[in-house]
Amino acid sequence: MNTKKCCSDCKEYKDLQNFYPHNSSKVGKRIYCNICYKRRHEKSYIRRIERLKQLPNTLKKNEEEEIRTYFDNCCALTGGKNKVVLDHFIPIAWEGLPSKYGLGGTTSSNMLPLESKLNNKKNSNNPFHWFEKVKDKYMLSEDNWQKAIEYLAGRNGLTVLQFKNRVNCCYQELIVKRLVENLERKFGWEERPEPMLNRFLRHGVNIQIAVKVYGSKELNNIIHSANIQGKIRVTKERLRNKVENMLTKV
Ligand SMILES: [Zn+2]
Repeated sequence: MNTKKCCSDCKEYKDLQNFYPHNSSKVGKRIYCNICYKRRHEKSYIRRIERLKQLPNTLKKNEEEEIRTYFDNCCALTGGKNKVVLDHFIPIAWEGLPSKYGLGGTTSSNMLPLESKLNNKKNSNNPFHWFEKVKDKYMLSEDNWQKAIEYLAGRNGLTVLQFKNRVNCCYQELIVKRLVENLERKFGWEERPEPMLNRFLRHGVNIQIAVKVYGSKELNNIIHSANIQGKIRVTKERLRNKVENMLTKV
C-alpha cells in the first residue's frame, strides 16, 4: 500500500499523516502537505483582508439585524436556519470594480443571509449565473430568489431590471479585465497564442479593443505585431468555419 504522498506544492514525498483529510478527493487527503496548506491558506486569508480594505465597509450592527429580521432570521433562499451567514451578494473577489457601478462592498445594500453551504459555493461567480447553476441541486425556489433580488434592488435604489443589468455589466467588464490581466501575466504566450486568443473569442470579447482599454503599452505592441495579428485572423476564421459547419448540420 502506498503510504507516502507527493505534496503538490513543495513536491516532497511525505507520510500520509502529514496531509489533512479531505472528503472530496480520491485518496481522502489534501493535495498539499500540512505545512504548505497552512502557508497557502494564510496567503489567501491575507489577500481577502487586503481586498476588503479597498472596498466600502459601512455595514452597521443594527443594519445587519435589520437584514436578518427582514428574512425572518432565515436563509433568504432556502428558508433554513442552519448556519446562516451574511453573504456578499457581489463577491469580494470582484475587488474595486463594482464601486464604479455603485455596487458591492460590505454595505447594507450588498448583504444577503445565506446558509453557509450555499455561500461556500458562490465564490466569485456572477450571482445570477450562480443561481441558475445551483437552484436544482439545492432545490431553491424562484420566488425566494425574486424576493431577495427585489430586496437588494430596492436597497440600491434601483428597479429589479436596472439592478440586474448593472450587475451583469459589471461582471462583463470584470471578465474582460481579467482576460487582459491574464495576458499581461502569462509570460511567453505569444509563442503559442491560440489558447489565449480562443478564450477571448469564446467570451465574445474583441481582443484589440480589450487590450487598448485595459492593457499596458507593451501588451498593445504585442497585439499589433504582425505575428499575433495573423494568428487572430486564423483563429477567427477557424471559429467562423466551425459555426458554419454547425449551422449546415442543422
Ligand atoms: Zn508541501
